Amino acid sequence: MTAAKTNPVVENNVKAAQPEDTYSDDLRVILEMMPSSTSKEDLDLIEKAFYYAYEAHRGRQRYSKEHYIVHCIEVAKILAELHLDPMAIAGGLLHDVVEDTNIPLSEITKEFGEPIGLLVDGVTKISSLHVNSYEERQAATFRKMLLSMSKDIRVILIKFADRIHNMRTIEYLPPSSQERIARETIEVYAPLAHRFGIAKIKSELEDLSFKVLDHDAYREIASLVAMKKEERSRLISGSIDPLQAELKKFGVQAEVQGRAKHFYSIYNKIRTRGVSFDEILDLLAIRILVEKVEECYFVLGVVHNLWTPLHEKFADYIAMPKSNMYQSLHTKVRGTEGRMLEIQIRTRKMHSIAEEGIAAHWAYKEQAGKIADIKKQVNWVRSFLDLQEDDSTPKEFMDTLRDDLFSDEVFAFSPRGKVITLPQGATTIDFAFAVHTDVGIHCIGAKVNKKIVPLNTELQSGDTVEIITSKNQKPSQDWLRYVVSARAKSKIKRWLKESQLEQYIKLGNELFTRELNRVHMVPSDDLIKDIAQECGYDVKESFFASLGNGDLSLQTVINRLNAKHILPSDRESTLQRMIRRVRRSDSGIKIQGLGDMMIRFAECCRPLPGDKVTGFVTKGKGVTVHRVDCKNARFLQAELDREVPVEWDVDRDQEFNARVQLLAEDRRHLLRDITGAIAPLNINMIDMNMRQEGALVLGTVTVKVKNLAHLTKFIRKVQDVKGVVSVSRVDEQIDGSKDSPI
Ligand code: MN
Repeated sequence: MTAAKTNPVVENNVKAAQPEDTYSDDLRVILEMMPSSTSKEDLDLIEKAFYYAYEAHRGRQRYSKEHYIVHCIEVAKILAELHLDPMAIAGGLLHDVVEDTNIPLSEITKEFGEPIGLLVDGVTKISSLHVNSYEERQAATFRKMLLSMSKDIRVILIKFADRIHNMRTIEYLPPSSQERIARETIEVYAPLAHRFGIAKIKSELEDLSFKVLDHDAYREIASLVAMKKEERSRLISGSIDPLQAELKKFGVQAEVQGRAKHFYSIYNKIRTRGVSFDEILDLLAIRILVEKVEECYFVLGVVHNLWTPLHEKFADYIAMPKSNMYQSLHTKVRGTEGRMLEIQIRTRKMHSIAEEGIAAHWAYKEQAGKIADIKKQVNWVRSFLDLQEDDSTPKEFMDTLRDDLFSDEVFAFSPRGKVITLPQGATTIDFAFAVHTDVGIHCIGAKVNKKIVPLNTELQSGDTVEIITSKNQKPSQDWLRYVVSARAKSKIKRWLKESQLEQYIKLGNELFTRELNRVHMVPSDDLIKDIAQECGYDVKESFFASLGNGDLSLQTVINRLNAKHILPSDRESTLQRMIRRVRRSDSGIKIQGLGDMMIRFAECCRPLPGDKVTGFVTKGKGVTVHRVDCKNARFLQAELDREVPVEWDVDRDQEFNARVQLLAEDRRHLLRDITGAIAPLNINMIDMNMRQEGALVLGTVTVKVKNLAHLTKFIRKVQDVKGVVSVSRVDEQIDGSKDSPI
């Protein structure tokens, strides 16, 4: 095999040295781990998969110099510990056959059936073909894995088991691969395990990666924890004993345990919250396990009666489970000797779900609950994949995946009390899109806890949110800065893209029609079809869209028309055309008619209604409008085919930004007098920059005005203020900002 592998394996042509008997013990161990109810067929399936994998990997070693089958055995054992079913165990034994040997997937499917084929395929890396960079391969592999998971969630459980064993044996790999694998584990696999509620796997993956990525910090924390161990267990039993006595008094059967934090979570708290190591270990944590849900609340009462609760630290994840199915009551109290005590109260079943997450469902036989919960998890995978744009880059794909996995959650309520779970930092716009795409697209404001708030208000857990919609509202590019959920992001992007496409088609159509109108021709459907095909487009919409977004230049189209003698030969020369355009015919594209999205006003000259303007089609950005006397416009005119005549057609109350430069004597109340003078004009100053130059001040003011006449009035008023030396409109960029001319 030439494909790149990240599994710890080396080629070895020597046959395995050990006799098969060594490994049949392992097979027996796996079989014994299966529940006694397992059927003979199922046990046979595991045995068959075992020998198949053994033969397939024969002669291959891991970096640890062990027979490759050892890895498969360990993976199967981890799956068996998670109480997974025989099919998953068989899948675990076979998981590396396709990636590591020459046996094709079709062989596995033929031998073991479609479902096991899917499991093996789902965990097989994309290894080659057209994908070159590591990042591309990684994104393609994850995409494929998520896709298989959406069909069978066991794919991810096998992948977790695989990753755990690879991480347990990572010391045998070369250091550079160690770091890359550890990073991928902590950035993607551990959060994925968290997403599926498998705390056990998440903690182990985090600690194993932590050990590789920051070995010194890991060693330090490990030794400090070891040093404090005795003291802590003494303190914890000092709290457990009185609590247990109290519970006994009320006749509650409960198991009370001390709870140790794993190293990486200690490290993370020190790093992100700036708390000291001692503070973290001084905080004692215990967990109370009971049988029934009612008992959880009863025990909570007992705890709060015994010790003083810190109210703000209470959370009821039983009534409001986290989206990874986690359920528990959390409280923090001032315990024995005034020590802070974190307490979790939950049923045994909740506990096994907290530890094993989705995997716990294979241990519990209650079908109904099992199916509903698994469906929820599968839906998460599906909707995540649905939301991905097909053309997203590998980097975008991995970033969204990481974002989606990493975020903490907030719980907000609809006015009717429905819980909506959102990532931390979510705003009312995220909420609106979570309710329904249409609500999102048309949301214009929101009430949070009955108060009207701006759309970009960040939500807190417990907020009740009512979305106000308007038929005329549309998403804008700005919204992307205010949303954090993958759903809102991709819905907004998709909407912008689609409506942009419409605009491009409209613009392209206008450009084309105008060109023909000028020579007194009316574009017939046949003609459009014909010329579109000439230019390589089957559908006229895509022809117009390309013309509108600048992929296809108008000049190219004109050349084709000329070549086919469609245009009259006496059409004006390029020079004449330019002169005519500068003179401004009335055939320009109406700026208003095209929608804001397609029109940008050049930052260099900031045209105002009343200014003579011209437009340039800018690739992917629509039309940029410049003043005709703008330097940049003159420069751009060199590329004639991109110029588009435009004319003003604005609403009466539409306002534009204009920049004005001001020079005045530095005196008291100058600003007050200026503001007073312009007050009757009803002009907003939105930005002002003043700089002292000796006895003078030099300033730049940005104002909102309706048109050129409005601005002229403003300038005159300011000029009349005492001490003002000069006021003029700024033509060139003076603040050194990086706005490009197009
Ligand atoms: Mn493997």
